[in-house]
Amino acid sequence: MSAESTSKSHDLVVIGAGPGGYIAAIRAAQLGMNVACVEKEKELGGTCLRIGCIPSKAMLESSELYSEARSAFSAHGVRIEKVDLDLATMLKRKDGVVKANTSGVEFLFKKNKVTRYLGTARLAGAGKVVVESGKEAVELAAKHVLIATGSVSAPLKGVEVDGDRIGTSTEALAWSEVPGRLVVIGAGAIGLEMGSVWARLGSKVTVLEYLDRILPGMDAEIAGETHRVLKKQGLEFRLGARVKAARVKGKTCLVEADGMEPIECDRVLLAVGRKPMTEGLGLAAVGISVDEKGRIPVDESFQTSMPGVYAIGDVIRGPMLAHKAEEEGVACVEGIATGYGHVNYDAIPNVVYTAPEVASVGKTEEELKQAGIEYRKGSFPFLANGRARALGHTEGRVKILADKQSDRVLGVHILGARAGDLIAEAVAAMEFGATSEDIARTCHAHPTLAEAVKEAALAVDGRALNA
Ligand code: NAD
Repeated sequence: MSAESTSKSHDLVVIGAGPGGYIAAIRAAQLGMNVACVEKEKELGGTCLRIGCIPSKAMLESSELYSEARSAFSAHGVRIEKVDLDLATMLKRKDGVVKANTSGVEFLFKKNKVTRYLGTARLAGAGKVVVESGKEAVELAAKHVLIATGSVSAPLKGVEVDGDRIGTSTEALAWSEVPGRLVVIGAGAIGLEMGSVWARLGSKVTVLEYLDRILPGMDAEIAGETHRVLKKQGLEFRLGARVKAARVKGKTCLVEADGMEPIECDRVLLAVGRKPMTEGLGLAAVGISVDEKGRIPVDESFQTSMPGVYAIGDVIRGPMLAHKAEEEGVACVEGIATGYGHVNYDAIPNVVYTAPEVASVGKTEEELKQAGIEYRKGSFPFLANGRARALGHTEGRVKILADKQSDRVLGVHILGARAGDLIAEAVAAMEFGATSEDIARTCHAHPTLAEAVKEAALAVDGRALNA
């Protein structure tokens, strides 16, 4: 047990050191609480930092550079005779990026005097948390407990994950050789991001998706355009393909889906969603029951049915996104300390880090139609943006949806280079209750990709200047 504190009694015990938990712990410490954080993994940072967002972005960056060096540099007049892949170095770099981030959290805990316990936490009654590590156990007394245990990859009936040839995103971040043929099950964020990485490194990637479209939940027009762009990059998609089975057969794998011949491949990535992680938490012992999706029900202050026990992030309702968990962590502990904490669920961005990136905030066209809300739409292609041309990244568009009467921005959807950064302007605009006219009249630096956002806002009123 690596308890650094002499006291085993805390104002707040946070269970889980992912983005939700570690940010909540730091904020609570800033607010003057005596905070502890229990994490079962040696490294802090949770799925996001260790085996999710951060390592996948490192691999996306490296694989994109490799792909550009092979096929895009020559158009810039940069000639390279031979481009070789050194996968071992790429993976080592990724591990270094992870280490820098997880050590960063360790440093922040020390700086903010958050006590770290290494072990598995279990609720053991009102205000009691037991931390087990091997044969040792320590009991913590806590005025408040915050569950931030996140999620794990969801299994799929019939798919025999062996942790090697048939794996989840965790394995797909560490394969030591490029699979010749890779089958990806699920065309969500994980499937498309990891599918892109291995396709760029040389795999023949086939994505099997149950629905008749990719990226469910994203604006359909933008998802359709993303589908076309990724197809052009060499990813093969089979839509309406419900996978029923996948197993290792000798040196290869066999994947079976409705309505098609079984596919033989070298590796399989299962990416059909994630499920809340509540196993072993002892919820039943304190009278907390989970809902039909395995999530912990909470009220608007993130309090569970047990007074003094709170939950945030992937383990509760809402999108499974690191930044959503962070906002909830801050709002939850501010609520405990000050009586007030708030998350605006209408302004939570969602980004998929393919090339180009896909980013969105607010309502999709489908959602507005379904709710019977009248809207005006402005769209601007990156093909007409000077900076995008100079970069050589002209695919995609910015689309802004604004209320027909009030002109208030209701949704912004972007496919394009750096869409994940561009969406921040739209999120800020929506936080301030901006109209499309507000964005249209805001001076944007030239030449930048952000000018496409201004032009899309102008287009809402039919007055785009460069298209
Ligand atoms: P997802 O829910 O986003 O997508 C899963 C896909 O699998 C869906 O399109 C679904 O229709 C499909 N599917 C389900 N059953 C199937 C079957 N039997 N056969 C074929 N297809 C099937 O899940 P994910 O991509 O695994 O991501 C998990 C979570 O992690 C999500 O909540 C996601 O938002 C989050 N995440 C976010 C990012 C990001 O923000 N960039 C990156 C990775 C993960």
